[in-house]
Amino acid sequence: MTTMETNQPLAVYAIINGEKVESEQQFPRENPANPNEIVCYAPVTTREQAAQAIDAAYEAFKTWKWTSVDDRITRMRRAIAKLKEATPELARLLSLEHGKPLYDSEGEFAISIMWMEFACDNVKEATQEEYKEHEKGKTIITHDPIGVVSAISPWNYPISLSTIKIAPALLAGNTLVLKPSPFAPLAVTKVVEIIAHEFPPGVINIVHGEADVGVELTSNPKVAKIAFTGGTNTAKHIMKAASETIKKMTLELGGNDAAIILPGFDVNNKKDMRRIVISNFLTAGQICMIAKRMYVHRSIYDDFVKKYVEAANQWIRVGGPFNPNTTVGPVNNKNQKEYVQKLVDDARNKGAEVIKLGEIIDPELFEQGYFLQPTLVLGCDYRDPIVVEEQFGPTVPLLVYDDIEQVIELHNESIYGLTSSVWGPEEEAIKVARRIEAGTTMINTAAVQGLDVRFPFGGVKQSGVGREYGIDGIISYTETHVINLPIELDLPYIPE
Ligand code: NAD
Repeated sequence: MTTMETNQPLAVYAIINGEKVESEQQFPRENPANPNEIVCYAPVTTREQAAQAIDAAYEAFKTWKWTSVDDRITRMRRAIAKLKEATPELARLLSLEHGKPLYDSEGEFAISIMWMEFACDNVKEATQEEYKEHEKGKTIITHDPIGVVSAISPWNYPISLSTIKIAPALLAGNTLVLKPSPFAPLAVTKVVEIIAHEFPPGVINIVHGEADVGVELTSNPKVAKIAFTGGTNTAKHIMKAASETIKKMTLELGGNDAAIILPGFDVNNKKDMRRIVISNFLTAGQICMIAKRMYVHRSIYDDFVKKYVEAANQWIRVGGPFNPNTTVGPVNNKNQKEYVQKLVDDARNKGAEVIKLGEIIDPELFEQGYFLQPTLVLGCDYRDPIVVEEQFGPTVPLLVYDDIEQVIELHNESIYGLTSSVWGPEEEAIKVARRIEAGTTMINTAAVQGLDVRFPFGGVKQSGVGREYGIDGIISYTETHVINLPIELDLPYIPE
């Protein structure tokens, strides 16, 4: 049942060693579309409880690591089947606590399941032992589990950014403690409960809270690997906390992804224009890989602005998450709303033109919730905060350029390098893409529209360390172990 049916906040709890654990300390998580309504109380797990979860995972690892890959796959597939069944209900909970429209929550579950299935289909081959006979002797190479994984996820895609870690970690023989964000703790707890039901106690645990619990998860000596998705500044704290015991790490961090529109881009291509709009405003712009700044060649600038505004006005309908016509919901929390608003105000005060986009279809909700009308910002300086900072909300600056060399330089001077996109004739676009510093560059598509779970995803520079998704996203939960049988090497420096 949801709050919508009962008007009662829903329960969220930790799961430690297979048991539900309540917390004395909790704080209310409000409905972003209607902050007067409390969706659930987000528990705050104590540091001691977090340490207990790590102990449970540590003990479970001793036997879990010796289980067969077939057994792990069977369990994971059972969990996937149950998640599929529960998706309609869980997607509603996600929209309720997060604010994103229902189609978006359903999409998040679909991507999560796609990835979990890919991990099941490929873990055997990815982690298969290799046996090599060569002229100097014999070598066995194994891909062993690492140990206890601390998985820490953000609020914007709580289901997919948790399952992206859970599936490969468990399938490769690790155990795990997940800490989701207190801004969206509800649906992900239900997901973990469903998965935990299929695995022995302690193999998968979930705890809640903020930095205090985070510090336990990232510094406890029994933790072998950290898989973190979140902000670049948080990652700096995590690296420091983990340095004492040199933990393995995958970090998926912030981005300031650019969309570069080449002179040959056809502004009359409605499909492409709609794709650009979606790449700016899906999930109200709260995606790491959303196009957060656009550079358009001067030769097509005026036409581009005109056609872009037309396309945006057609696609953007701002409303409550359960209105079937909504394409853009509220932002997730008050701080985020204020931060984005401040960036837009700052640009306006400096002389930028701010164009409101789309239609507000739920005016009453709009007034009370954390809504922002999407905006296109024209005429800012290349280094204004709205251009160089990650806005993570429904606004996008559009800048004009004359020379592609200048844009590549502006693109690459960013501290970030997550994804980017180039729009225009394919051959020309590929040439530009090759010179872009980013983990992924998409051509004539962008953001989740061009995301393929079969291929590695991650950032360069301060956008991250390592890769998730693809075979790399499975292998990163293993340690390579080489077993050499006597090798007949000629080592003349060793005396007889
Ligand atoms: P955040 O960094 O504030 O929080 C992320 C998680 O870290 C939360 O669970 C939070 O409670 C936890 N945390 C906070 N302090 C901690 C500490 N000291 N030690 C350990 N954990 C701690 O990020 P957010 O606001 O939840 O998410 C938005 C950010 O995430 C954006 O920068 C976005 O770009 C980034 N992100 C990146 C990707 C990617 O794949 N690269 C995907 C989604 C979001």
